[in-house]
Amino acid sequence: MYNKKEHIVIVWFKRDLRLEDNEAISNAIASGKRILLLYVFEELLLNDTHYSKRHWDFIKQSIVAINTKLQSYNTQVLAVQSDMISVMNKLQELFFIDTVYSHQETGILITYQRDKKFNRYCKNNKIKWIENINNGVQRGIQNRLDWGIQWEDYMKTNTYKFNPQKENFISNEVIENINKHFKTVSLHTILKTPFQKGGRQMALRYKASFFEERYQNYASDISKPQGSRTGCSRLSPYFAWGNLSIREVWQEAKALRKVSPKKRTLDGFMARLRWQAHFIQKFEMEYVMEKASVNKGFHKLKKKISQEFQEAWKTGNTGVPIVDACMRCLNTTGYLNFRMRAMVVSFFTHLLWQPWQEATIHLSRQFLDFEPGIHFPQLQMQAGETGINTLRIYNPIKNGLEHDPDAAFIKAWVPELASLDTRFIHEPYLMTSLEQGLYNFRLGEAYPYPIIDMKLNRKRASDTLWKLRTDKLVIEESKRILLRHTLMNRKTRSS
Ligand SMILES: Cc1cc2nc3c(=O)[nH]c(=O)nc-3n(C[C@H](O)[C@H](O)[C@H](O)COP(=O)(O)OP(=O)(O)OC[C@H]3O[C@@H](n4cnc5c(N)ncnc54)[C@H](O)[C@@H]3O)c2cc1C
Repeated sequence: MYNKKEHIVIVWFKRDLRLEDNEAISNAIASGKRILLLYVFEELLLNDTHYSKRHWDFIKQSIVAINTKLQSYNTQVLAVQSDMISVMNKLQELFFIDTVYSHQETGILITYQRDKKFNRYCKNNKIKWIENINNGVQRGIQNRLDWGIQWEDYMKTNTYKFNPQKENFISNEVIENINKHFKTVSLHTILKTPFQKGGRQMALRYKASFFEERYQNYASDISKPQGSRTGCSRLSPYFAWGNLSIREVWQEAKALRKVSPKKRTLDGFMARLRWQAHFIQKFEMEYVMEKASVNKGFHKLKKKISQEFQEAWKTGNTGVPIVDACMRCLNTTGYLNFRMRAMVVSFFTHLLWQPWQEATIHLSRQFLDFEPGIHFPQLQMQAGETGINTLRIYNPIKNGLEHDPDAAFIKAWVPELASLDTRFIHEPYLMTSLEQGLYNFRLGEAYPYPIIDMKLNRKRASDTLWKLRTDKLVIEESKRILLRHTLMNRKTRSS
């Protein structure tokens, strides 16, 4: 049973679901008080449309992996469904809670508001809340002077080893009793799915196979929709939910770089590890990006919403094969490489001329690696609404031909085109009725005509967006964004 007089500390897991290189846990151990490890399946997030079952399953698998490792310490994560303040109120009836340890979270507006509320709660209840920095993202900074150097310095610091004593933790028997006061959550998930599985062990396997072999093809495969599935690291969900820290992977890549002949490839990979924090830092410093373009000059851009276009895009029925293959693949597997993500967003915002805000929910629900701090800034950048980045209106046909030349990816995801000759698969609408007859294929029946005129719509997007870039407010805002969000001189020690 529990000793009501006991002073304990809590580690509040959020997007840091690991025991190793977890500063919050190390700080809790150093406190010398017994630790309760806590994950709250928060109703505010369970009900939030950006999240979907694939995320919750990944989280559950991550907690199961932590619990497996904790068996030898006779403890487990208290996993409950509620809101943080109700959980704390209940726990305060059972213990004296001295401190809550957690990583800083750069989340969506509702988690930001929850954190502010929780901060007030802690103050009112005389509980210390100690939040540590997450993957080098800094809180409260006003510009990026020296940010690159500081990020790199952070990456070079020692990782935290998980090496506690059994006595550091509240025991399993006590947690069983605590459970009775809460709505607990079954951590069971179906493992036979097309998604990457959560948990530290899986993360380590992906990391090992990447550094042992797969990274060799990183540079050549990164833009290919099919090749990237093995040539890229595939570590993004493990970073997004915290099964791995960026620091431990960066240090391993740096060590490998010393002995590997593929130094430039590893430089490319390590630069992307920095982009992870670079994008999250933008969002940390400008959280309004969840709803509105960071460049206020673009707020005057009005696009007519078409549910029909949006539905065709979401379900992979636009009549543009590479776009449809990407969307179907994403919906089924939770993954797309960077270039194809950028391309489908460009298709949505430029060619279908839909507001980027209308794409956020569908994409965040599908991306297994949904990370708000990358997701929202990337969407705006790809939509061409930052004013500071090169405007890229992707030509889907050109991208398909370049990165899926034998149409293997399209054939896999748009099977209705699989029997066509490769030269028609990228543009089935170019087939004459005679050719359609030869392949026993009827455009408009087996597969839709393109829902838009790509050439015409590309021109409209290009003309409108280039014109807007000469707008006074867009220019003023671009200057502000450059000062606040760009890396001055792109200074880093390794570059
Ligand atoms: C519209 C759009 C939305 C995106 N949303 C997300 C998201 O929610 N979560 C997410 O993790 N990534 C997002 N990305 C970035 C990128 O596409 C993925 O990080 C990458 O494809 C993941 O695959 P990987 O782990 O194999 O990457 P690798 O190429 O192996 O890169 C290693 C790591 O670097 C980071 N990284 C790579 N590319 C980028 C990038 N362009 N920007 C920031 N960090 C990067 C990721 O953490 C990634 O795991 C988005 C990109 C676009 C265009």
